Amino acid sequence: MFNRYAKQRIFLGRDADESLRAKRVAVLGLGATGSVIAPWLARAGVGHLTLIDRDLVEASNLQRQILYGESDLGRPKAEVARERLADANSSIELEPVVADLTSGNARELLSGFDLICDGTDNFEARFLINDVAILTGTPWIYAGAIGGEGVIWPLNPPHTPCLRCLIEEPPAGGDVDTCDSAGVLGPTVGIIGSWAAMEALKVLTGKPPHGDLARFDFWNNERQFLKSPKSRCRFCTEKITEFLDARWSIKASALCGLEGVQIRVNPPGKLDLATLKQRLETRTRSPWKQAGLMLKGREGDDEITLFADGRALVHGPMTPERARSWYTEVVGC
Ligand SMILES: [Zn+2]
Repeated sequence: MFNRYAKQRIFLGRDADESLRAKRVAVLGLGATGSVIAPWLARAGVGHLTLIDRDLVEASNLQRQILYGESDLGRPKAEVARERLADANSSIELEPVVADLTSGNARELLSGFDLICDGTDNFEARFLINDVAILTGTPWIYAGAIGGEGVIWPLNPPHTPCLRCLIEEPPAGGDVDTCDSAGVLGPTVGIIGSWAAMEALKVLTGKPPHGDLARFDFWNNERQFLKSPKSRCRFCTEKITEFLDARWSIKASALCGLEGVQIRVNPPGKLDLATLKQRLETRTRSPWKQAGLMLKGREGDDEITLFADGRALVHGPMTPERARSWYTEVVGC
């Protein structure tokens, strides 16, 4: 009889293998590491995967984001990922979510899972995941890759330290290398994404993951295992969730590595895209195209994409300040 999991079952044993069918995992971020983690979990037969990403596929992604190809340019990553993974394994449940993680939606988006996998590239998101993990008792796997090196740290507060036991605050914007400043090699994210998926399979089948923060510099052949901090911070011991509790209204920020601006609203709204389409077509005297949960068009030299959750991406010369006021003017928050 055809059994797609036969080889895995020999290794894990029948019970552990079958237990994967009942597991629910959220993969937050389907960029470089996320597009390695998600396929391994889908092919291993994890019963439910929620695939969360805010971005559209861009040409500069293709060097390392192996879920996507040239024919996917301009499409939401979460939707493309769902299609690819459904082809890899049609027997599991896949839920794509095109959304940006904010303090307003993090708890809702990340609750109800056996595990959260970090496929993000920023500390803002990781501190939100950490807060949700503290509140809900959900294990999560911190995964980061930059240049030729990467970091993996499986966390499950209160059974393990939390992220803030080691790093109390997100590093300031200029203090950390990003994929923009340091670049990143494709194989780096391949190894780190695969390692995160390996730790995920341990967590999901009841085997303890490794407990240290592991940092490997693959390019310079160096490795480091940082022992977890012995003492626990007040945030995880007292369940203080400062990042979830934070509130902002409209925030505009320059996009990493691209000429563009992202606008986010918190808490996320519900935009009436059909009404906005009419309004924008009158305003810009040009056609706007609605496709599912997004609306796309041009104003002057800027290409603008609005999402139903209230978010917007602006590609072009518009500054964050100008984008913010454009948004307030047009969408009217
Ligand atoms: Zn802590």
